[in-house]
Amino acid sequence: MPIFDYKCEKCGATFEKLVPHADDKVECEKCGSKKVAKQLSTFSASVNDGVGACATGSCCPTGTCCPNGACGL
Ligand SMILES: [Zn+2]
Repeated sequence: MPIFDYKCEKCGATFEKLVPHADDKVECEKCGSKKVAKQLSTFSASVNDGVGACATGSCCPTGTCCPNGACGL
């Protein structure tokens, strides 16, 4: 399951959320607003997970993409 970075458009809080389904609605952890924007993070909290970061392995044929599932495959 991918973990995404979100930023609340209401209060500006940023947080990470584990999202089982890509289209799940996410609420701000601080204020509960549903107006949150998914961030394309340039760093990954999963970096320490190494090759295990890609849960299925099927999205990383080259081993260089989407530690957070951002490629959508
Ligand atoms: Zn908020």
